[in-house]
Amino acid sequence: MVIFCSFCLIIFEQSIYEKMRKCPECGGSVVGRCDRKFCCDDCRNSYHNRRNRTENNELKRINRILKNNYCIIREISSPSVSDSTSQPGDKNCYICSRDYLLSQGFNFYYHTSLDEINPGELRFHCYDIAYRIEENGTTYIYRPNNYQ
Ligand SMILES: [Zn+2]
Repeated sequence: MVIFCSFCLIIFEQSIYEKMRKCPECGGSVVGRCDRKFCCDDCRNSYHNRRNRTENNELKRINRILKNNYCIIREISSPSVSDSTSQPGDKNCYICSRDYLLSQGFNFYYHTSLDEINPGELRFHCYDIAYRIEENGTTYIYRPNNYQ
C-alpha cells in the first residue's frame, strides 16, 4: 500500500513510511501528513504538557535561588544589620565577606545580569541590588539610591 501526502506531494510506501516516523510519546507509528509528528492528539498533548512542566520546574528552581540570594543581600544592605558595614563615603555600599554570604546560603552561580565596571572587574546584579567580590573575598553590595 502507498501513502500520498497532500502536503509534500510525495508518495510513500506505507511500510517504509511508518518505519521512518515514530510517535515521540508512545513510540507508535505516525500515519498521515509528513509534517505530522504524533500519532494522535492525546500523545501530542501529553508530550507538550510534560515538557512544559519540566521547563516550569526549572524556572521555579532558579527563581527560588535568585529570590533567596536577593533576600540575603537585601538583609545585609539593610542599615539595621550589624554584620555589614557601610563603606565610608558611600551610604549605599555595604561590605561583607564571601564566606558570610556562603554561610547564609547565597548561591554564586546565579545572578540576573552583570556589568564590567573596570577592565576585568565584574559587578553582578541580583535584580536591583549589585555586588562585587574581590579576590580576597571582600564583597561590596550596592543598594540602588531609591532603596527602601
Ligand atoms: Zn503516540
